[in-house]
Amino acid sequence: MKITQADYVISAVGPAQYPTDGMPEIALAGRSNVGKSSFINKMLNRRNLVRTSEKPGKTQKLNYFMINGAFYFVDVPGYGYAKVSKKDKEAWGRMLEAYFAERDALSAVVHLVDLRHPPSKEDIQMHEFLTYYGHPVITVATKADKISKSKYQKHKQIIIHDLGLKADDALILFSSLNGTGKEDAWRALDPFLH
Ligand code: GDP
Repeated sequence: MKITQADYVISAVGPAQYPTDGMPEIALAGRSNVGKSSFINKMLNRRNLVRTSEKPGKTQKLNYFMINGAFYFVDVPGYGYAKVSKKDKEAWGRMLEAYFAERDALSAVVHLVDLRHPPSKEDIQMHEFLTYYGHPVITVATKADKISKSKYQKHKQIIIHDLGLKADDALILFSSLNGTGKEDAWRALDPFLH
């Protein structure tokens, strides 16, 4: 994928701020610190379009990025950060519910999990939530450079089992450090960008 444009557009707290141009949207979801910002920057060849290692749980908005004048990346605030208050967690849940339940422009979701560890309870809940609403989910297992290739298969199988992925569900091993999986990720996204 040749990236000719990648621009921050808007931070939306609710439907009133969603874009109205009807361009397809790819949402990106994952627990805080999973490597979501790094994934977005790597995919778009930008060093710091999305700030990495921000204080987890702080951004409670859907951040829209326009790509190539053709589709959006929608950065969904990360989950699983223990220090978030109950009130903020509830607001986060309402915002996600509103978005994932009703957003027609949403084309597919990239769900990021950490390749090194079995999916957390919240990872499993998120996967169930996304599939419940019928969204195509592309699971991306991050930080692949941190384990040896000989362990890839074992870790993949744990993710497939714990998330309940089907044979034709996309699972992509990714590293924002060395670019592993970048082309695979664009190939998996391609059907959803038009
Ligand atoms: P986010 O909170 O999900 O947006 O995660 P970030 O992209 O900010 O990444 C969290 C931390 O993991 C940072 O210290 C990153 O440098 C690191 N990180 C992210 N992706 C990778 C990766 O593919 N490989 C390695 N080794 N570190 C990564």
